[in-house]
Amino acid sequence: MGAVVLVVEDEAKLRGLVRAFLEGEGLTVFTSGSGAEALTIGSRVRPDVVVLDLGLPDIDGEDVLRELRRSYDVPVLVLTARASEEDRIRGLELGADDYLTKPFSSRELVLRVLALLRRGGLAPAGTAPSSFGGGLLVIDDQRHEVRMRGGQVQVSPTEWGILCALARVPGRVCSRAELVNSVRGYEWEGYERVVDSHVKNLRRKLQDSPESPSVIETIIGAGYRLCLQRDA
Ligand code: CA
Repeated sequence: MGAVVLVVEDEAKLRGLVRAFLEGEGLTVFTSGSGAEALTIGSRVRPDVVVLDLGLPDIDGEDVLRELRRSYDVPVLVLTARASEEDRIRGLELGADDYLTKPFSSRELVLRVLALLRRGGLAPAGTAPSSFGGGLLVIDDQRHEVRMRGGQVQVSPTEWGILCALARVPGRVCSRAELVNSVRGYEWEGYERVVDSHVKNLRRKLQDSPESPSVIETIIGAGYRLCLQRDA
């Protein structure tokens, strides 16, 4: 069975088209025209990616996103008719991993969904967990897990990508452009604020103080760096 995608879109015609595009790629597609039904299907089938229209008739798409995120960290591609930059960025701040503004091409949609599926893929077996700061932070590639002070931390795919990019070069500064590139493969207008908001979320999840961070440090005018050393 191919990867499972849940498409949440209230416009029946568009929903059908998106289903056809994705099925054409060999993916298994579930669809829903409402937020409530999407949450039910989401918890039942545990999709690998969700394509979510923000403008839904019953529950606001943003609330659906928040609710999905509460149960598990499925990658979410947001579809929006609200073209203003603010709304786009707000979608990403809520934890969406990518967005597409309507109208979009079938190719664009397929590429974005496939990129999210790849990003969620597990690293090759046999990679030992990396430990930092004397075991304070542990990143387990194989199990796709982050542990802080021994406790498991739930991170979104984008947060995972940013943390892994920082952890590859502990102590070295990564620019926002490098970070966004490592998780997404390209930059776009306004990406700096998006990186900032994901780092803010990461710090909160890692119980790092925003005022005097001891895990992810802000280097003014340059970017971010992991200030923990890799354990031998
Ligand atoms: Ca809609």
